[in-house]
Amino acid sequence: METAKFVWMDAHLVPWDDANIHVMSHGLHYGAGVFEGLRCYETARGPAIFRLGDHIRRLERSAKVYTVGLPFPVEQLAEACREVVRANGLNECYIRPIVYVGFGDPNPFLAPIHAAVGCWPWDDYLGPEAYENGVTVKISSFRKVGPNVIPPAAKATGQYLNSILAKVEALTCGYDECILLDDAGYVAEGSSENVFIVRDRILVTPPASAGALPGVTRDTVMALAARLGYEVREEVFVRSDLYLADEAFFTGTASEIVSICGVDGRPVGAGEPGPVVGALRSAYCDLVHGRIDELAHWLDPIDA
Ligand code: PMP
Repeated sequence: METAKFVWMDAHLVPWDDANIHVMSHGLHYGAGVFEGLRCYETARGPAIFRLGDHIRRLERSAKVYTVGLPFPVEQLAEACREVVRANGLNECYIRPIVYVGFGDPNPFLAPIHAAVGCWPWDDYLGPEAYENGVTVKISSFRKVGPNVIPPAAKATGQYLNSILAKVEALTCGYDECILLDDAGYVAEGSSENVFIVRDRILVTPPASAGALPGVTRDTVMALAARLGYEVREEVFVRSDLYLADEAFFTGTASEIVSICGVDGRPVGAGEPGPVVGALRSAYCDLVHGRIDELAHWLDPIDA
């Protein structure tokens, strides 16, 4: 994996190789931490971070769920994202802010809280062919954690063990990615992506109550779909709705918009990226590169 030169750690830029934490940190042992994933894109106004405010607000909400007090004001964490991209001289990159409980008293309220922001070039999260050909998916035998176990509405480090179990199972079985169902059997989401199906030009995505993270890309796609004249519904659906969809796709900051071309060995639609995914991908590409004026406020130039 490509790296970068500096990481922002507790308000200081430190060289990438020195960006270490104590091995006894709570965050490492108990998964006590919340994080975000953002992307910076080249635009006519210079490199700009997509929906920076929305991601930082979600970080704040995740911290609230886990009663992790943010060690810096949200404005400073947002500025840290801009600063770390500038310091690394990157025009396009992935950005990872994390707030974690460090080493200290076993009572999490008394342990120190730290923040860090890293960034690095990261083009093809689901592999180089995912955008061209789509990905194959296995419905996982692992269920999505429920709101009374580990609330999936927050983005916390420890809860990704659930995603890892499902992803490893899918990879081991020869698939590219997984989809987790909630306890009632409804489709929740991928390991780090939201899911949409397309039926008769209507887009359907599971509600947060089915265990879906309120994804920023999901919300963006809903806005783009409306602009393109597609109806969008938030409704629960089951695995056979994926088998029988005209098209299906994942959304996420890292993966952007990726077609799901097969589920459990069955082709979805024609088994290749379809026209709706194509239209949304092209609109998303225009949007993140600042070519849709009405939505330009979603881009935060790093040199603003
Ligand atoms: N679900 C999960 C579990 C995720 O980790 C992510 C990535 N943050 C998403 C969905 C997509 O969210 P977003 O579009 O905000 O990146």
